[in-house]
Amino acid sequence: MREAARLSQISTSMIRRMFEIVERAKKEGREIISLTIGEPDFDTPQEVVERACRAMNAGFTHYTSNFGLEELRSAIAERYGVDSSNVMVTAGGSEALLNASLAFIEEGSKVVIPSPNFLSYFTYAKMCGGQIVQLRTHDNGFLPNVEKLNEIIDRNVSVIFLNYPNNPTGAVIDEKDARAIVEIAADNKAIVVSDEIYDQIYYDVKPTSLAGYENVVCVNGFSKSLSMTGWRIGFTIADEKLIDPMLKVHQVNGVCAPAFAQKAVAEVMAEGLFYSIVSKMVREFRQRRDYLYSELSKIYDVVKPEGAFYMFVNVNQDCMEYTENLIKLGVAVTPGLPFGDGNETYVRISYANSHENLKRAAEIIREYESQRA
Ligand code: PMP
Repeated sequence: MREAARLSQISTSMIRRMFEIVERAKKEGREIISLTIGEPDFDTPQEVVERACRAMNAGFTHYTSNFGLEELRSAIAERYGVDSSNVMVTAGGSEALLNASLAFIEEGSKVVIPSPNFLSYFTYAKMCGGQIVQLRTHDNGFLPNVEKLNEIIDRNVSVIFLNYPNNPTGAVIDEKDARAIVEIAADNKAIVVSDEIYDQIYYDVKPTSLAGYENVVCVNGFSKSLSMTGWRIGFTIADEKLIDPMLKVHQVNGVCAPAFAQKAVAEVMAEGLFYSIVSKMVREFRQRRDYLYSELSKIYDVVKPEGAFYMFVNVNQDCMEYTENLIKLGVAVTPGLPFGDGNETYVRISYANSHENLKRAAEIIREYESQRA
């Protein structure tokens, strides 16, 4: 058996190694506080669950249109002030990202990914035969330097991935820079894939949506905002000229998102429940962010996250060694390496965990560092 060449550069070894380390610790009977979690730790709100049960009983158990239920498309379109023909519902944000990648990354073309960034972008680019060009952001508060982007971009760039609020840093780009990047991309006939999956989870600066530009594919979904990662509801907003190539992939990829889940989300939005659900969750995340930031900034130089539920911390030591040492003490974090170039001494810390666990984890980290000093 032979793996296809397009997968030869894609590795699962890091995930496997982390999994083995955690499993070993569990086998040895040690309790681990996991700060590796990439989803809200809240249950899906009852408002969504109840409407989904009703929808299942009412027969929303079949295919929907490839574009999604009209009810949901309209609710999303209204939120963005676009026409529902610009909205395509997908099986999670991940499906939308793969659709966009297969639709727009020409084999051999360049794909610009600011580092650090969500690791899947590297995988999509490699799968599609793109040449990855990384733009390091460590010396700029984890935000891309627009002038530097202008220097590296050329007509061979097919796609630029942006993600604000960002995973793994929580950084939020300002509107002026975001728009400048879209314009630079347009001058070079490149598409910006703007992954806005954390757009509802922000603290002081409201993130700008790039939906509506001719060369932008906006990706979003309800995995994070309604704490429903297992339900697989995402969406894409784009000009109809861009929707069409993505539909060619979607019709054989996700096909449609689960019907009852689409119906439940559509009702939650139509009944005006969406923002009150989100704000409850964000209030909790804000307290945790403030707590963890105040604790960790006593130990490390930390950039305060403006959104999502992650901190990307320079621990000034090899991230793999740090991660393994910390696991032995009962705290799991994610090493920075897979998030791109220049992240060898960084780790991602997720605060999608209880205040009690965060407090204990901060104590363990402080103790670890005081013994290392
Ligand atoms: N984009 C980013 C930046 C993410 O962090 C995630 C989830 N970890 C996704 C997309 C995928 O979300 P979904 O569950 O909707 O596929």
